[in-house]
Amino acid sequence: MDLKSLIRDIPDFPKKGIVFRDITTLLNNPQGLRQTIDSLTLKCQQLNLSPDYVIGMEARGFIFAPLLAYGLQAGFVPVRKPGKLPAAVHTIEYELEYATDRLEIHQDAVKKGSKVLIVDDVIATGGTAKATADLLDRLGCELMGFTFVIELTQLAGRSRLPDVPIVSLIEY
Ligand code: AMP
Repeated sequence: MDLKSLIRDIPDFPKKGIVFRDITTLLNNPQGLRQTIDSLTLKCQQLNLSPDYVIGMEARGFIFAPLLAYGLQAGFVPVRKPGKLPAAVHTIEYELEYATDRLEIHQDAVKKGSKVLIVDDVIATGGTAKATADLLDRLGCELMGFTFVIELTQLAGRSRLPDVPIVSLIEY
């Protein structure tokens, strides 16, 4: 099945000039969803990525990371927007195009030295994935790799990431 054909392009969302790659039309297709998760899981296994935890970023990382964690027999850890996690957190601030944003993780979410895999729906500039990697570095994790359903190659996001395997399924 051609997964790309299940992604819907929405021009000028959320602002003029951006083509938003809408995954809701992939998610609501039973065969497409299964193939997406099975393919990502297989690619990770072929690269011997066997993390203790799969890390997903709010919000759309939450859709894919737990499914991948299930397949890889790992735990799932959420990285959230500020003020959402109830226990003590580590926070990272990072640059967006015209602003800064923050992400948080529970200080006790992973044990020091744990192997982790970072998962998100899309890699665009790579800023979110890089910030998450930096956050996990503070917790003393061993970063095994990154997994994305969609890679926007023109933005060269992967060039901002540390030198570990980067798995993506659909390229634009
Ligand atoms: P990044 O620039 O890599 O930090 O991207 C930040 C987040 O924005 C990603 O996690 C994506 O969910 C989302 N995103 C950025 N560009 C697009 C796009 N063209 N279509 C859909 N989602 C996008």
